[in-house]
Amino acid sequence: MNHRNVDHAENISDVTNTIFLGIGSNLDDPIHQIEQAIGALSVFVHSIKRAHLYRSKPLGPQDQPDFVNTVIQGETGLAPSDLLNRTQQIETSQGRMKTMHWGPRTIDIDILYFANLRVTTPTLTIPHQEIFNRSFVVIPLLDLLPNEMTPTGDRIVRNRYDASTLVRIDT
Ligand code: AMP
Repeated sequence: MNHRNVDHAENISDVTNTIFLGIGSNLDDPIHQIEQAIGALSVFVHSIKRAHLYRSKPLGPQDQPDFVNTVIQGETGLAPSDLLNRTQQIETSQGRMKTMHWGPRTIDIDILYFANLRVTTPTLTIPHQEIFNRSFVVIPLLDLLPNEMTPTGDRIVRNRYDASTLVRIDT
């Protein structure tokens, strides 16, 4: 008789979901920081596609370096809260210090979308609350959404966003 026990957790780990992460940096060689973060993410996010890299002026305090931002799409078997834990570990390991709000940071990783889920917990809001307030998130996100439809079914109106604040820095 076959006693193989397929438990619930094993079933869950077979399921993957499509996620979109926003990544930004303005310290210690931002392009390198972003590449390093994507390398670390690739341990638990598969089939990664990256949007272009964009440089922009900081929000808030201007006496800090320009930011570089991008968005990645990928597949993960993790649950949303585990994904947040892992992205926060990467932020910590790349030396991110919590300084001032809108202050400089070596790396910032935001969970923009997790499949078509809506999540509201004390530590996690998905879709990320600031997506539509930030050209530096929407413009790279559009690189990955050919029909301009988000995973939760919203259509992004490209010309509402001021792309002139961003400079694409890769080909
Ligand atoms: P930030 O300063 O942008 O890195 O914000 C970090 C805090 O935002 C963390 O303490 C998270 O718990 C919280 N947070 C809420 N929703 C999200 C999300 N979708 N992605 C990343 N962090 C989130």
